Amino acid sequence: MAQFFNSIGRSMGRGPNTRQPHPNQIPKRSPVLPASSSAPSFNSASDQNQNEIYSEPASPNPAAQPKPLYLCNPFVKAALVKGNFKTIVAQPRYCDLNEWVAVNIYDFYTNLNMFYGILAESCTPSNCRTMSAGPTLDYTWIDSSRKQVKLPAPTYIDYVMSWVQQTLDNGKDFPTKIGVEFQHNFPTIAKQIYRQLLRVFAHIYHGHFTHLLHLSAEGHFNSLFAHFLAFGKQYDLLDHKDIKGRVGEAVGVGDLWEKWKEMGILEA
Ligand SMILES: [Zn+2]
Repeated sequence: MAQFFNSIGRSMGRGPNTRQPHPNQIPKRSPVLPASSSAPSFNSASDQNQNEIYSEPASPNPAAQPKPLYLCNPFVKAALVKGNFKTIVAQPRYCDLNEWVAVNIYDFYTNLNMFYGILAESCTPSNCRTMSAGPTLDYTWIDSSRKQVKLPAPTYIDYVMSWVQQTLDNGKDFPTKIGVEFQHNFPTIAKQIYRQLLRVFAHIYHGHFTHLLHLSAEGHFNSLFAHFLAFGKQYDLLDHKDIKGRVGEAVGVGDLWEKWKEMGILEA
C-alpha cells in the first residue's frame, strides 16, 4: 500500500498552492460556482450543487459505440492496490471527520492534478472541444450570466482545478491554523469539489485513456480512481446519478464503477 502512495506522490499534509496550470490553460475569467443554501451533512444524498447540467445527447444511438478500452481486459483490472479500499478509507480513531475528509480531498486533488498535468499536452481545445465524459455526454458550464455554455475540456478543467485550489488555499474552507474551525457548510463544499473532480476523472477516462496506456500509468490511475470512489461512497460525497448519468447520457466511468463492484474492488 505504501508503494502506491509513494508512487503517486501522496502527501499526508495540506500544503501551499502547488497548482501550476499548463500555459494553454490559463483561465480567461474566474470560474463561477454558486454557493448552496442547503443544510450540509455528510450523510445526506441530496443534490446540493447544480451549477452544471447535462447537455443534449450528441448521438441518438449510444449502444452502437464500441466498448471503451478501460472496460476491457487487462486494463480494467490493472491496479497497484490489490483487494478493496475498505481499510484505507476508514476514519482513524482520533481524527476529526472533517479533517479526514479534508486531507483526503487535498490528496485526490493533488494526485489528479498531477495526472492531468502529464496529459495536458493531448487535452487541447482542438482535440477536446467539449468536456466529454461519454459518447453522448458533454458537461456544460454555467457562466456568470447563468447561461449554459459548452467549453473546451482544457478550459473547463482549468476552471475546476483553479477553483479547487483557491478553495483549498483560502484558509477558511479548509482551515489549517490552530483555533480555526471548519465551517458548518464544509460538507457542502466537499461534495461540490467531489462532483467536479469526478468529472475530471470521467473526461480523462473517456478522452485520454490511451495516453495513460502509453505511459503505462493505467494501474496508478485505476487505483487512484477506485480509492476516490470508495472514499466518496463511504462518506456520501458522491451522488449516484453523477457516477451513472441519466438515460441516454451515461457517464462512461459509470460502467467501470459497476465492473469494479463485480470484481470486489469496490464495495457493492
Ligand atoms: Zn481532453
